[in-house]
Amino acid sequence: MLALFVTSCGSGGGGADTVSFKRDYWGHRPGPKGFTTVILDAGHGGKDPGAVSRTTGAQEKALALDTADRVRKKLGGKVKVVMMRSGDNFVDLDDRVDLASKRDGAILVSIHYNAGPSHLKGPETYWWRVDSHGLATRMQRGLEKVVPRPHDSRGQVRRRLRLTRNPNIPSVLVECGYLSNPSEARMCNEAGYRDKLASAIAGAILDQQRMGDSGTGPLPKPINAPPSRPTDAPGS
Ligand SMILES: [Zn+2]
Repeated sequence: MLALFVTSCGSGGGGADTVSFKRDYWGHRPGPKGFTTVILDAGHGGKDPGAVSRTTGAQEKALALDTADRVRKKLGGKVKVVMMRSGDNFVDLDDRVDLASKRDGAILVSIHYNAGPSHLKGPETYWWRVDSHGLATRMQRGLEKVVPRPHDSRGQVRRRLRLTRNPNIPSVLVECGYLSNPSEARMCNEAGYRDKLASAIAGAILDQQRMGDSGTGPLPKPINAPPSRPTDAPGS
């Protein structure tokens, strides 16, 4: 991974329009606009079902793939889409990172559904790199418009996860809703609701492609921290 370190051209050259969207080990740069490729990563798959709703019986892996597929269709050729998985197969997290990190001019959007204490509900967007903050802001803003009550949104969270820290391209991980909350699990089980979530995610991608970080607030501070490992303590 270290061999892939490339000098960011985000801080030099001819102004905001020259922001690099190529691979960058740290991501200490503004978010990209004009990127050519979106890697859609449907979480889990195969032997790993992810969260399973006790209310509906739905499995996260199936809902995530369905949502990713809807996002792909909504992007409709406006940006190249690469599906991390297009069927019910298992892909190791580190293999997902490696696949994403091979692509210049790409961003990674990982799609999940959440589980936790049953009172928790609402979408969350995780990010880590500076160049992913604007996209995460757009994602969360869009998802907030989909949930029935705005205060059900749980906001965007800077967290060092394997899929937010380790790829060398801008990366966000969207948790679309809590399958452990009975009312939200029922909503997430409806195709129409997932379609609205997918519209919000696709809209955020296209807005970021067109406008970069414009309108998403000040850039966060760069943080130098090592890649996330499965052996790390939770939340570290
Ligand atoms: Zn998940």
